[in-house]
Amino acid sequence: MPSFKDLELSAAMQANLAQLGFSEPTDIQARALPHCLAGRDVIAMAQTGSGKTAAFGIGLIESLKPKLFAVQGLVLCPTRELADQVAKALREMARAQENIKVLTLCGGVSIGPQIGSLAHGAHIVVGTPGRIADHLRKGTLELKRVTTLVLDEADRMLDMGFQDTMEEILGYVPKQRQTLMFSATWPESIRKLSAGFQRDPVDVRAQTQSGNTDIQELFYEIPAQERTRAIVSLLSEQQPASCLVFAP
Ligand code: AMP
Repeated sequence: MPSFKDLELSAAMQANLAQLGFSEPTDIQARALPHCLAGRDVIAMAQTGSGKTAAFGIGLIESLKPKLFAVQGLVLCPTRELADQVAKALREMARAQENIKVLTLCGGVSIGPQIGSLAHGAHIVVGTPGRIADHLRKGTLELKRVTTLVLDEADRMLDMGFQDTMEEILGYVPKQRQTLMFSATWPESIRKLSAGFQRDPVDVRAQTQSGNTDIQELFYEIPAQERTRAIVSLLSEQQPASCLVFAP
């Protein structure tokens, strides 16, 4: 498995990764990064927590032309939460280069300020398909200079019914590009999507899939005013050793 030092990364990126505490690549990074850096299309099976954001982010940032104020990288995510998380991680990785602007374009907020931000130029746009398509239809987003397109959690985007919107967006992106697709699962629909959007992709699967089938999912619908109390009672009942809470 290659280490970060074996990869052809800029000295600034190497130093930035060390500063972020990334001493060795994760399994998915070691498998995907050499191909991402070589400009190949990649279809990667990777879950959240596998280090997938850096697996596409490092190559994406290294390929940018900082002086060109045009969208060169487009990352499509299924949800606003993921888009925010990805944009934050990309900004941290982009500290290696001067003046890289990462813009988030998601629904649920008014479009006006986004149009203002777009007018100032961005190197990378991260967003949800619906809002990206809105901007394209309005003519407020220009994707003619995109060289790398990332579909993050592609399986969830399909589950959420974004197939047609993704196809519409692809119509605005140059055919000559690198397409990186990340998915936690590998259904037939994902392979079909890849066949439609990608060119001779390298198939990369992380070895360290959890393989844990012993997972029980519970769902409680709780009125907003009772949520804090419900969380307190859930935590005292379950007594988890560790716990992750996603809050809006
Ligand atoms: P992700 O799967 O992209 O959401 O990443 C999960 C977490 O792993 C994030 O908090 C990253 O900052 C962290 N991470 C990613 N790559 C590495 C690495 N090579 N070494 C240590 N931590 C990492």
